[in-house]
Amino acid sequence: MALIVQKYGGTSVGSVERIKNVARRVMRARERGDQVVVVVSAMSGETDKLVRMASEIAGRPDERELDMLLSSGERVTIALLAMALIEEGCPAESLTGRQVGIVTDSAHTKARIERIEADRVRQALAEGKVPIVAGFQGIDEKSDVTTLGRGGSDTTAVALAAALGADLCDIYTDVDGVYTTDPNVAPNARRLARISYDEMLEMASLGAKVLQTRSVEFAKKYDVPVRVLSSFDEGEGGGTLVTREDEAMERVVVSGVTYNKSEAKITIVGVPDRPGVAARIFGPIAGASINVDMIIQNIGSHGLTDLSFTIPRADLARTLEIARGIIADIGAKDLNVQESIAKVSIVGVGMRSHSGVAAKMFETLAREGINIIMISTSEIKVSCVIDLKYAELAVRVLHDAFNLGAEPAAAEA
Ligand code: ADP
Ligand code: ASP
Ligand code: MG
Repeated sequence: MALIVQKYGGTSVGSVERIKNVARRVMRARERGDQVVVVVSAMSGETDKLVRMASEIAGRPDERELDMLLSSGERVTIALLAMALIEEGCPAESLTGRQVGIVTDSAHTKARIERIEADRVRQALAEGKVPIVAGFQGIDEKSDVTTLGRGGSDTTAVALAAALGADLCDIYTDVDGVYTTDPNVAPNARRLARISYDEMLEMASLGAKVLQTRSVEFAKKYDVPVRVLSSFDEGEGGGTLVTREDEAMERVVVSGVTYNKSEAKITIVGVPDRPGVAARIFGPIAGASINVDMIIQNIGSHGLTDLSFTIPRADLARTLEIARGIIADIGAKDLNVQESIAKVSIVGVGMRSHSGVAAKMFETLAREGINIIMISTSEIKVSCVIDLKYAELAVRVLHDAFNLGAEPAAAEA
């Protein structure tokens, strides 16, 4: 008998009919003799709707209150799914983050899980019930409700699987696995049968939203095998297994292309070129739990330099507030913002031993007349910031240039 954590994303619980479907899938797993713990997201579009309502009330809504609001979406689906199971004669019990004892830090809207008690989950299992856990939410030490950042139900599921010592964590979503790129952008994207934790970590952190980055961190740290599957497929098979790197994995240089359209770029102009200035700028930004992504400092002249960096667009207003205070302090001249940017990246562990990959990426973008605004590289990825309007085009041409498609790219007429 295996212990399996199944997570169902927003689309999979997007209607009453779909919730009934999920209940049937859960029961099938039980009939196979497995113990099942279920984690669910809010119905698709629900969290977005709540965010919109909050923004109609306040430009920058109070984050504690925002978490109280956002956590309500998952309450609806846990209760409905538990009802659906009970109705079918399967004992089930809905549990909030607080009831499960998912304890996080207090970084509202992007809290990190610190520990999971899970006593109620174990108790429900012992009583033969299916625990239905609300994804995306926890509580901090003060018992205030926190949320784990968008897509956070994946992290609830994998962290819970780790805490329970589950055999497997199945992530059910609206695609049947992890693809070489977003299949909704490149129709010839190919499903990967297996992907290593490291590659998945890069793909997720570079924008492949099929798994939240932190869920992959947990999976890697606690060695939880994760499968990504479609909740709409009737058969079992298929899907993508996210696991340790092994011989069975494809030996390719580039295994995926990702894009991220949710960042903004800030440039601080005329920064005095002297020791300690970067620390003065980035210290307070980090102190506000804002994740700076790329940073570029241009070559200085006349003792001044320009400094550009990218941050999540959702944190733009707060970053600007902080940065404006700092520029006066350090004697920088000005500050400008570019909101319509996208970051496209190529990812692959094979890059470690190959040269010329970045050059090929730059040539491919150049051929399409796409200007590169910023570049960053690591051992297994190359990222370029480009104009937002070229994001999808860039993904498609890079996907073809690195031969990732299911079939050879159609020749141009
Ligand atoms: P859920 O609501 O189930 O959590 P998400 O919308 O968060 O689902 O994630 C699934 C989506 O991720 C897919 O519909 C797809 O558009 C997108 N996606 C982006 N990159 C990839 C990729 N490389 N492989 C599969 N899906 C991807
Ligand atoms: N409902 C949350 C969101 O939309 C969490 C999740 O779906 O994983 O981001
Ligand atoms: Mg998701």
